[in-house]
Amino acid sequence: MITENAYAKINLSLDVKGTLPNGYHEVRMIMQTVDIRDILTFEKTSGGITIDVGGSPLPEDGDNLIHKAVSSLFEKCGTKGGVKISLEKHIPIAAGMAGGSSDAAAALRGVNRLYDLGLSYDELRETGLKTGADVPYCIEGGTVLAEGIGEKLTHLPSLPPLTLAVAKPKGGVSTGNIYKALDRIFDTVIHPDTDGMLGIIRSQSVTAASLSGYLGNVLEYVTVPLCPDIDRIKEIFKNFGAAGTLMTGSGPTVFAFFDDEKTAGEAVSEVLARDICGKDETFVTKLTDPEY
Ligand code: ATP
Repeated sequence: MITENAYAKINLSLDVKGTLPNGYHEVRMIMQTVDIRDILTFEKTSGGITIDVGGSPLPEDGDNLIHKAVSSLFEKCGTKGGVKISLEKHIPIAAGMAGGSSDAAAALRGVNRLYDLGLSYDELRETGLKTGADVPYCIEGGTVLAEGIGEKLTHLPSLPPLTLAVAKPKGGVSTGNIYKALDRIFDTVIHPDTDGMLGIIRSQSVTAASLSGYLGNVLEYVTVPLCPDIDRIKEIFKNFGAAGTLMTGSGPTVFAFFDDEKTAGEAVSEVLARDICGKDETFVTKLTDPEY
């Protein structure tokens, strides 16, 4: 039996450049792994793909992104045999933290090892793209500029393990619907300064304060009006002295940088006290560079 961690991500910057002829959105985003993880375990079986989601409200059939990813891999490699994958879910679902994509990426790494398929990470990224645009990033994670539809990846210097609070308001949002709604207001939005953020990251003198000056997510224009709790959480985090705060991905999760874990914990407790989030959907965590 083997095990793989699947880490969540946040977006330090998320910009949409426009719509491609095939209808996909062209993005420019800075992705960052955080120390919140699902755990997947793998066992060989005689055939098929069996998924145990461990009581989480996720599908166990072909709709699970784990299933889609492993099907593509088995097809590519002509693998004889099957796999049982057990998922211990901790990353909030439909939260903008790439939980499903990270599970899919972990499944590709895990089955590659389980069956000794010998595929490189580049080959796993290529296979993973069939399952979702964020899967190629999740194969290795870290601090990365993602362009194209999310699959053109440029690795950036690792960031220090800064402390952050993370809170997902109750309810989720559909990534597809958020992007569609952005199209309708696209001419009116102000785009984040992704190049400014890249300059800070490449300067290698990164602090919570220097990063916070360039945090930006164009999708906040759409998701915040749909989910006013995002602004309530941001307000609480600011009142507790956060250096900067932003929604990640298509939302609705909010993160904020703090100088220390104690203050981040107090800010999260206040969010819980106001019943904006469920207990399993708040975290005090750190930026990390996973060792896959
Ligand atoms: P992203 O940040 O990549 O947009 P997200 O964090 O917003 O993703 P996910 O948690 O990946 O959202 O879930 C998106 C949808 O995918 C949900 O509707 C969920 O039911 C479905 N899904 C399928 N498989 C999984 C999985 N293994 N983990 C989480 N969601 C999954």
